[in-house]
Amino acid sequence: MSTSREGGCACGAVRYRLTSEPLFVHCCHCLNCQRQTGSAFVINLLIEADRVELLSVEPQPVDVPRDDGSKQRIHRCPICQVAVFSEYGRPGVWFVRAGTLDDPSVVTPDVHIYTRSKVPWVTLPDEVPAFSEYYDTKALWPPESLERARAALRSGR
Ligand SMILES: [Zn+2]
Ligand SMILES: [Zn+2]
Repeated sequence: MSTSREGGCACGAVRYRLTSEPLFVHCCHCLNCQRQTGSAFVINLLIEADRVELLSVEPQPVDVPRDDGSKQRIHRCPICQVAVFSEYGRPGVWFVRAGTLDDPSVVTPDVHIYTRSKVPWVTLPDEVPAFSEYYDTKALWPPESLERARAALRSGR
């Protein structure tokens, strides 16, 4: 996805630019993501928060309940309420919703997760790893991404 890394909400108030490639790309089929998006899955670009450059207004954080009793912080446009990023409790790493990119077709999932609740009519490609729940990042992420994630944790953002 080297060409276009810009995206935004529906009304245009929130615009962002990713300043590098993501760490990893998740396609999540869990029930929380299905409920939040009203769709079959969500595609998230995992990237350091400080590599998400906001070009306009600040998205508004909304704490959304999850099935396990925890809350997930979802950042939405304060005007049209489209969700652009979320956090899953890992400090310094944001989950950018790939569908908000100007060109979502530049993104391909690196892994499919929580396939235990995948809807039956979605067929996954053989060549992409898929897990019924979560997975071991150390086994799957490129070494460079692991090092970047460690640095983001250290910086404590
Ligand atoms: Zn908006
Ligand atoms: Zn999910």
